[in-house]
Amino acid sequence: MKEEIYIISGMSCAACSSAVERVTRKIDGVERSDVNLTTGKMTIVYDETKVKPKLIKEKVKKAGFGIRADNDDQRTTDGIDGEKNNSQRNELICAVIITLLLLYVSMGQMFKYKLPVPEIIDMNRMPENYALTQILLTIPILYFGRRFFINGFKALFHRNPNMDSLVAIGSGSSFLYSLYLTYLIPYEPHHVHHLYYESAAVVITFIMLGKFLESRNKEKTKGAIKKLMELAPDTALLVKDDMVTEVASESLKPGDIVLVKPGAKIPLDGIVKSGSGGVDESMLTGESLPVEKSEGSEVIGGSISYNGALYVEITRIGEDTTLSKIIKFVEDAQGKKAPISKIADKVAGIFVPSVIGIAVLASVIWTIAGKDFSFVLRIFTSVLVIACPCALGLATPTAIMVGTGLGASNGILIRSGEALEITHNINVVVLDKTGTVTEGKPVVTEIISNGISEEELLQYAAAVEASSDHPLAKAIVERAGVITKQVTEFENVSGMGIRAAADGKRIAVGNKRLMDGVDVSEFESDIKRLSEQGETPMYVAINSKLMGIISVADSVKETSREAVSKLKKAGIKVYLLTGDNKAAAEHIGRLVGADEVISEVLPEDKAEVVKKLQAEGNKVMMVGDGINDAPALVQADVGAAVGGGSDIAIESADIVLMKSDLNDVYKAIRLSRMTIKNVKENLFWAFCYNTIGIPIAAGILYPFNGMLLSPMFAGLAMSLSSVCVVSNALRLRSKKL
Ligand code: ADP
Ligand code: MG
Repeated sequence: MKEEIYIISGMSCAACSSAVERVTRKIDGVERSDVNLTTGKMTIVYDETKVKPKLIKEKVKKAGFGIRADNDDQRTTDGIDGEKNNSQRNELICAVIITLLLLYVSMGQMFKYKLPVPEIIDMNRMPENYALTQILLTIPILYFGRRFFINGFKALFHRNPNMDSLVAIGSGSSFLYSLYLTYLIPYEPHHVHHLYYESAAVVITFIMLGKFLESRNKEKTKGAIKKLMELAPDTALLVKDDMVTEVASESLKPGDIVLVKPGAKIPLDGIVKSGSGGVDESMLTGESLPVEKSEGSEVIGGSISYNGALYVEITRIGEDTTLSKIIKFVEDAQGKKAPISKIADKVAGIFVPSVIGIAVLASVIWTIAGKDFSFVLRIFTSVLVIACPCALGLATPTAIMVGTGLGASNGILIRSGEALEITHNINVVVLDKTGTVTEGKPVVTEIISNGISEEELLQYAAAVEASSDHPLAKAIVERAGVITKQVTEFENVSGMGIRAAADGKRIAVGNKRLMDGVDVSEFESDIKRLSEQGETPMYVAINSKLMGIISVADSVKETSREAVSKLKKAGIKVYLLTGDNKAAAEHIGRLVGADEVISEVLPEDKAEVVKKLQAEGNKVMMVGDGINDAPALVQADVGAAVGGGSDIAIESADIVLMKSDLNDVYKAIRLSRMTIKNVKENLFWAFCYNTIGIPIAAGILYPFNGMLLSPMFAGLAMSLSSVCVVSNALRLRSKKL
């Protein structure tokens, strides 16, 4: 299976994006294809043995759209977009001015007190000239709106009618009909009252205006990614042979040393070689306070040295840097559709043909009811113009884009629209204890021995633990300092401890489960006391005889308690899940205020616990550091990895929290709830607008109160609906999490 991203051009509304999805999904061997109308990108997954990129391109082109691979340089496309925007703006300004003139000429004379016009175009005295002037003013506007006609008829021809087709048919038929009447004026001057030039023109102008505002706002939704891209500085100060030279950041290689002056940006990920000071990582991790860095600390490319000069050895470049990974994460997320958009997409796909059907049907009914052609044409045009489903197509992707962007700028990375959507339904959060609720930096607090010295007990334990990278092991090794004993036959028993041989003796360090066949009664009261304080006492047995215990304590993160209470207030049940002993787990659970504590769970059983909670009908979010809970992260409805996560956690998590702060779990849920609420508002308005708009345009109110929608207002309403939807999504940007 291969995943590729293509840029699709010529799409104007949801009918287009769903047409592209339809033709590509039909190809045998294509597993998934999502088209994002907001970004104009298609993410396609296909079996490369069955499908060739050429076939995909052919199919899309045949449906009437442009397609190219998404590997072109970002900057060049930005330049083209900028130029396109400028020429669009200029044409729009001209169109607005000419439209105002046209309205003045055509409507100005219909009021009781006529607006003054030169006599030679007076509608009563010189009807031919009046009509000709309107033609002259309308033609340039139709020219400015040529893309609607070209795209619209092309799409119609390819049997994928879209919003442009509706506009083209609507405006085109008004124009042609008026031309026909103009031809009749010399013989029957009363036709001068039924000209529709201004409708043909105003519809185009309004839709140009709407599209312009919409595309400007759509650009803003990409703001978060743009901001991230701008974080990486273009140049860096390379230190070589005691000389400092300014070089392009791209030319740096791992191992290079760079100087970062106070106030300057760190070019790429690296390790501080010398110097110290605070670094502002807020743009990357959401951590608002500067983080202290000194020799040996890792620094992230794009962060800003606050007050110290740092010599940094570059460790990662190009696609491997944290910043590149964040950007890719967010971009990928925006390419994948949320399930909530499925209905809207389905509706949009069949919408346009149905609307053409409704417009024809309404026209037939009014003709049978005895209305003249001019009345019927008005109905026909209004229905076509008001019914465009573009708001429908924009409702979900714009909100998801803004939502994921807002998350990214707070250090919350969300894998996909789907993950964002599921998160809003979460009612159970399961927290892994070590490294998630606690700091993950345990220290040895007590050593109790019998029969050998405490120092010797520690030496045996440390020798055994030196080969493990478990946080508990690190604590013991650290306390021991120098290790004097040699170890052989090392065995790591996951979730229990370590067995090994040293000095010809069999050593076991771990919890009660590991002490199979060992009498553990001797230190029972100490174990009980330490556990109840929330510590993790470990047994040390030599040749199957318990020689002593080593107790380790890990402090609870300051933020954990606050975060748990916020989650509970949001109606979420909080579980603490750990392999640690029951008493210690319960102590920590009480400390942070968890609703329930599940302890003494083997790493491989953590996923089972999550599964059981799901079977009880819960939507479960698992939060862990991925060190031995990756299967549980995958099993959960939403898996969240904290602290930037280990690589394996990033792969298995749906949400990556850059900071190691449980408040971000709450923020992620809040973000998801806000975004989904926004999507629902958007969908409501878009649907509502179309379901109310179409019958009114079809003249359903006319028999009761004589209300008939002018095609002009239909055009205005349609444009406003998409502008409203996009603006509503943009509102999310200013929300605080
Ligand atoms: P957690 O669920 O908190 O991440 P683990 O599943 O990794 O914990 O470990 C559970 C328990 O197993 C620990 O509390 C400890 O008693 C024991 N244990 C695990 N690894 C080791 C080790 N390397 N040395 C000693 N004891 C260990
Ligand atoms: Mg763990």
